[in-house]
Amino acid sequence: MNYVDLRSDTVTKPTPEMREAMAEAEVGDDVYGDDPTVIELQKKAAEMLGKEAALFVPSGTMGNLLALLVHCSRGEEVICGDKSHIYVNEAGGMAALGGVYPHPIPNQADGTLRLEDIRAAIQPDDQHRTVTKLVCIENTQNMCGGVVLGVDYTRAVGQLAKENGLKFHIDGARIFNAAAALGVDVKELVAPADSVMFCLSKGLVAPVGSMLVGSQEFIARAHRLRKMLGGGMRQVGVLAAAGLVSLEKMTVRLKDDHARAKHLYEALKQVSGLRLEALPSSNMVYFKLAEHITLTEKQICDAMKERGVLVDWSGLREFRLVTHYWLDYAGVEKTAKAFAEVLK
Ligand SMILES: *Cc1c(COP(=O)(O)O)cnc(C)c1O
Repeated sequence: MNYVDLRSDTVTKPTPEMREAMAEAEVGDDVYGDDPTVIELQKKAAEMLGKEAALFVPSGTMGNLLALLVHCSRGEEVICGDKSHIYVNEAGGMAALGGVYPHPIPNQADGTLRLEDIRAAIQPDDQHRTVTKLVCIENTQNMCGGVVLGVDYTRAVGQLAKENGLKFHIDGARIFNAAAALGVDVKELVAPADSVMFCLSKGLVAPVGSMLVGSQEFIARAHRLRKMLGGGMRQVGVLAAAGLVSLEKMTVRLKDDHARAKHLYEALKQVSGLRLEALPSSNMVYFKLAEHITLTEKQICDAMKERGVLVDWSGLREFRLVTHYWLDYAGVEKTAKAFAEVLK
């Protein structure tokens, strides 16, 4: 069956243009620094984000882990959101592999960390305490609804970090979605950060890969650690070629995904068994089941699948649907119709 797949934007398969670019990519051994397509991708990513250098990594999780390992030594701490991907969804890699100590503080409903909470979380110079090294925010903030953090807020966090001698990392898995939603150049949005990770493999439709960007010195250290983690890759220009199409063609169309998310939201609002809250601000639609629904989350997913729609639940009686390149308006209608049937 030809499914409408709304489980995530990670399900996006490469476009015909990407497959062609991959087939024709010039390649070399990237561990020798010989792959021209990887070099081009890294140069382009650094340029677009306004940083000195970039590194291609197999996944966003590895990109974030590298940033944590460069910025923090063992026993040092990172201030992060209690609903952040690095804290909740990266298998505790920072602690297991880096001895980095997470200091979670509450993500507000709008995805932000309160500045006063960050300030209060910075450890005093005291032998009983860990040493705070890093602040990390996530934009868009996935678990808060794919919400977008603004330029002024990001600047304020950067300022606070600087005043306290801390580094500032942005988990920007979907930073281009954030920039598109705000209508700003991504450069401006990440200017206050020392490092940023973003994913090519989500809304940007590439099959594999994420980018880590920062200063020359930061990337040089991350490069060495990438090798240590087993992330040194060889003729990886075949993947970088798809990433170049992502940067050139996919970053400029994300507002279409956001428009579709709003359409999906409106369509699902008509379904009596669903409880939708705020209008989606990027490409994610989160909602809950109404009190009278007795089906389990899994029963609903199975019944939706029978109707040709793949969805996933994100929590107790809560679902998250993600729009992307391969979802058209007909797919939106089909999804709303299937939910109405399943929950009637
Ligand atoms: C997907 C994601 C990551 C990690 O990316 P992977 O490529 O899945 O490892 C990190 N942060 C956020 C917010 C994400 O959504």
